Amino acid sequence: MENKEYKIEAEYNPQDRLKALNEVEPEFWKKKKLEDMNKTEWELLCDGCGKCCLNKLEIKGKIKFTNTYCRFLDCQSCLCRIYPHRFEKVYDCRDIDIKAIREKPRWLPKTCAYWLLDNGYDLPSWHPLITGQAASVHQAGMSLQNRSVVSETGIKNYEDYIIDWKDL
Ligand code: SF4
Ligand code: SF4
Repeated sequence: MENKEYKIEAEYNPQDRLKALNEVEPEFWKKKKLEDMNKTEWELLCDGCGKCCLNKLEIKGKIKFTNTYCRFLDCQSCLCRIYPHRFEKVYDCRDIDIKAIREKPRWLPKTCAYWLLDNGYDLPSWHPLITGQAASVHQAGMSLQNRSVVSETGIKNYEDYIIDWKDL
């Protein structure tokens, strides 16, 4: 039976995260380097796609994504069910910091807002900071929502699950 602790509260509304836009300069991502952003700005940048929570393999120096996801991800909302405790419970859950963003080979999806900005690109038109809607990442088909993905639980041979999606 699934532990209740791991369920996302039904009343949690991802749109609430964007309320923090009142605390930051308009289009702050165009004016500040990633290194200079405060915690609120940094958190707002995440598009909520969930694709960084897919399991990956490094094969011959290249990252191969699989369509298996961390068992703590809710693949419909694309939210982590243990976000405050993720580093205690999942040994290889990675903090998204400057080092992670610049790591080679690249392991973040090429749509990741942090990776895009760090590489001189602007945010895509579907990004919640552009649309003002947390759900726009899902509506644009850029998240894991309604994709063909499976939980990692019980999976032994990750090679069988390698995918080649265009947005990875
Ligand atoms: S890939 Fe990047 S933008 Fe998408 S959820 Fe992960 S950190 Fe956020
Ligand atoms: S524990 Fe880490 S990898 Fe797993 S769902 Fe949460 S943030 Fe993603």
